[in-house]
Amino acid sequence: MVLIDKSGDWRANAQAKPSVAVLDAPGGGYVERPDLEDRVLAPLAETRLEIVAPVERDRLLGLEADYIILWHRVSLDAEFFERNKTCRAVVCASVGYDHVDLAAAAANGVPVYHIPHYGTDEVADHTLALALALVRELPGLQRHTRDGGWDWRAIGNAKRLRGKVWGVIGFGRIGMAVGQRARAFGMEVGFYDPYNHPGIEKAFGFERHLSLAGLLGAADIVSVHVPLNAETANLLGATELRLLKPGAVLVNTARGGVIDLAALQGALAEGRPARLGLDVIAGEPDVPVWLRGDPRVLLTPHAAFYSVESLIELRSRAAEAVLQLITSQPVSSAFLAR
Ligand code: NAD
Repeated sequence: MVLIDKSGDWRANAQAKPSVAVLDAPGGGYVERPDLEDRVLAPLAETRLEIVAPVERDRLLGLEADYIILWHRVSLDAEFFERNKTCRAVVCASVGYDHVDLAAAAANGVPVYHIPHYGTDEVADHTLALALALVRELPGLQRHTRDGGWDWRAIGNAKRLRGKVWGVIGFGRIGMAVGQRARAFGMEVGFYDPYNHPGIEKAFGFERHLSLAGLLGAADIVSVHVPLNAETANLLGATELRLLKPGAVLVNTARGGVIDLAALQGALAEGRPARLGLDVIAGEPDVPVWLRGDPRVLLTPHAAFYSVESLIELRSRAAEAVLQLITSQPVSSAFLAR
């Protein structure tokens, strides 16, 4: 079989199969064996798993693969795209693509795809789970019962959810899914998203805030769903966190870098937010002790994306996207990152 790619390179060698590297870092654990990917890509491509540690810089720069399925613990920066001469396309096995230098990829002719829709339900469910657990004081109640207690008053000062305001920062796929779930709990929903369609608030019957400050001052629960980029890095800093209402719950299932970690430490000391749910933390997997040890904080290890079904969908879509690239079909399993 003759494989023809956009540049036509493989016409010269009908026997050569393109190579696909499924690229992860130690401890990522997303793919134990690239068997699912291989089922999609064989016999057209050779698929292998590459586990590359951050310190193995030269290995990363010298990685030989026509296509890369990239897991988010590995970053591909400008030097990678300048030095690497084999990579034809990168498919991020993720919604976010803040770990790839898109400008450098484009400058070196490497298209970058991502898979934005595999886990919308899981992340929205996880966001609600974190917020509900915090509002209902589940971490404290579990500590209490594990210690042998059985006193309902251990629930402390829990407040009724119905009628409270849920504030969504970033009203995209996940933000919308969160808003709909919050409404099902009897909450009023507001959002801040300067980029979404004018009037979309009417389609949902939610309140649109034209400023982040307005949303932060109005919401009892605030959840973050923006992509991490130059504009959203440290979007929630000391000034913004101080605007949270007393008693407010803050949940971040987007990217850690959206919240300024140093500012968060100071704000938590002042009780803003009163409760905090984090699935993502700047600098993860390194988690500061002051976060791990705080009983007002509920942490999950970047697990919001996961269900058995979502991981299969993510891996399948990534492999199918590579197959579409190899066979010069329109790429429908993934989307260009921009
Ligand atoms: P999306 O692109 O559909 O929505 C993001 C929204 O944020 C868009 O509507 C955009 O207009 C808005 N936005 C951009 N800049 C903004 C700003 N400065 N202020 C307010 N709003 C702004 O993305 P999505 O599918 O909803 O995913 C959101 C993020 O969730 C992803 O970028 C990813 O980083 C994160 N995520 C995390 C996990 C996890 O496991 N924790 C899994 C999937 C996705």
